[in-house]
Amino acid sequence: MSRTITLLESTVEQHQQKAWDILEKCLPFTGRSIRIGITGVPGAGKSTFIESLGRLVVEQGKKLAVVAIDPSSKKSKGSILGDKTRMEQLSKQEHVFIRPSATGEFLGGVASRTREAVLVLEAAGYDTIFIETVGVGQSETAVFNMVDIFLLLMVTNTGDELQGIKRGIIEMADLIAINKADGDNIEKSKQTQAEMQRAVKLFPVGESGWATAVEICSALTGSGIETVWNRILEYRAFAEGNNYFTKRRREQLKQWLHESVYFESMQYLSHSPEFKKRLKTIELQVENEEILPPHAIRNLLREFMH
Ligand code: GDP
Repeated sequence: MSRTITLLESTVEQHQQKAWDILEKCLPFTGRSIRIGITGVPGAGKSTFIESLGRLVVEQGKKLAVVAIDPSSKKSKGSILGDKTRMEQLSKQEHVFIRPSATGEFLGGVASRTREAVLVLEAAGYDTIFIETVGVGQSETAVFNMVDIFLLLMVTNTGDELQGIKRGIIEMADLIAINKADGDNIEKSKQTQAEMQRAVKLFPVGESGWATAVEICSALTGSGIETVWNRILEYRAFAEGNNYFTKRRREQLKQWLHESVYFESMQYLSHSPEFKKRLKTIELQVENEEILPPHAIRNLLREFMH
């Protein structure tokens, strides 16, 4: 699994080719999982939550894979899993596989081969997939587009208006969990829960017909974690019941196709020595303001395609 994912993430053409061969053989065995997106600002408790929820899921006999995406890993030189203590207990379990997903520079640094990695994991029998992302950038939209259910982890209001979480992310969430509802924080968490319940009611109900659920939990003590899990299962049953589950996945495949137009063309061109050579030759023209960059590229592409 790891080696296939590494091949997928490689920019070497032969590696990619090999990875696609493997992946296409895997295809008949994919899709039989629930893909759960988990987002929240740094410090909201995502890794603690994943440990806690993960433990419960494994206790129920499931095979769990966690893919973590950190859009900032390029800059900070180390992924969110760089810190060895993250999900330490969980990573020791037999039926658990944890893997950071390499982030490409495309589309605002969103991991480019996460979808493919998920397919590999499914073929290997992982029936529960968590895709974790930091809820501050563009990556959550990308994750939203590859999961069955999108969970936003929040904490009680710390004065900071909605904790830097954009309204758009709240709208995307199928489930909101107010974490750190323990000790002195329980009452405040309940207040935040009520506030969020009111807030989500103002949004139109999405295509799924499901009204965003808001729960409180403590990843630290484990309280409420089972309720969150039950909500996830409830959502699944609901979405399967009205066929939205299948519809969402089909839509996502279509989206993947359209994204691939950009991504694969970019990859293809940026690895073509011929294209790079020609690009170099027009650099000077652009620098001398003889031609504008978009125009230069259009000409180049037209010429190149011939
Ligand atoms: P992440 O950055 O979102 O992955 O957050 P972490 O899981 O690393 O947690 C950030 C801090 O919050 C750590 O010090 C955790 O111990 C703490 N934390 C996480 N979950 C809880 C919780 O349910 N209750 C309390 N009191 N602290 C928590």
